[in-house]
Amino acid sequence: MTHRASAESSPSRPDSPFPTVANTDIHRVRETIITWFDSAARPLPWRDADTSAWAILVSEIMSQQTPVARVEPRWREWMQKWPTPADLAQAPTAEVLQRWDRLGYPRRALRLQEAARVIAEELDGQVPQTAEELERLPGIGSYTAAAVASFAHGERTTVLDTNVRRVLIRLFAGRDRPSASPGRAETQWAGQFVPEADHMKWNAGVMEFGALVCTAKNPRCQTCPLKDLCAWQKAGRPASANRPKTQKWAGTDRQLRGAVMDVLKSAHTEAGTEFRDSVAIDLFTAPTTTIDPDLLDTIGLRTSAALQTMRDLTADSDRIKRIINALVVDGLAAQQKERLSLPQ
Ligand code: SF4
Repeated sequence: MTHRASAESSPSRPDSPFPTVANTDIHRVRETIITWFDSAARPLPWRDADTSAWAILVSEIMSQQTPVARVEPRWREWMQKWPTPADLAQAPTAEVLQRWDRLGYPRRALRLQEAARVIAEELDGQVPQTAEELERLPGIGSYTAAAVASFAHGERTTVLDTNVRRVLIRLFAGRDRPSASPGRAETQWAGQFVPEADHMKWNAGVMEFGALVCTAKNPRCQTCPLKDLCAWQKAGRPASANRPKTQKWAGTDRQLRGAVMDVLKSAHTEAGTEFRDSVAIDLFTAPTTTIDPDLLDTIGLRTSAALQTMRDLTADSDRIKRIINALVVDGLAAQQKERLSLPQ
């Protein structure tokens, strides 16, 4: 897939969901967003001029589906601990998962370590320069590849995350929100907004504008510098027919997976002369009354508390076994005989 922007606008088909945009409007939007970004950008540490391509890549992976406020402290810690791909490549996977902490979707941490190994072992430690090359790394999708190529290497790409898509769709298509994922037609259409010069600022600026002004809920239309141009605003801000389902957390398998992982992370933390870093599977799945008390003596207080939290979520041992099997298959947990631990 290519991420390069086309130089100018081209007429859309009459039935296209992506309307033709006048060049004057394209220029207006570009200039407005770039000027706004110059004064309103948050001082995020990975935007510093001396940030390495590796550090930018890590920030992009961490920021997927996770708010910046939660990412920043973890990113700082990771960069201190593993400042280069080679450092992360050599790290014990258990520690990588533990330091991922509560960023969610921990498979991202595993893929990031796989990418670090490819970069360290096959690419001489150098993060690839182009979006096309970046997309060949494990766990790097088209959005992340375009973002890293733009922000780390200055390639003129079309960075199309959910914030960017929402801004452009509201401004020119008059809809509240974009479809579930961008297709080729949308990527080409969005490419016309990327300027020849200042393309990095455009990419970063329009993302930031979507994150701070044209937000999914409660956009700040009254003070928006593009209000007079905005098709969605002019149409009276109609709600989309396909409102996204709110993702519930309580009671889901995701919540239970996280709780099982918390037990393993606690055990890893408490491992030492007194306790092992693995936990007997019976402690997760057996009915409380049948648990061998000696097994409880093999875990520390913190692990015991995490275990209780997990067991409070469900008493369905078949469900817990299914979750454990899935974690093992995903590489997030390791099973040795009747014990479970983080992968080493
Ligand atoms: S007017 Fe509102 S919806 Fe339109 S671009 Fe500005 S913030 Fe977004």
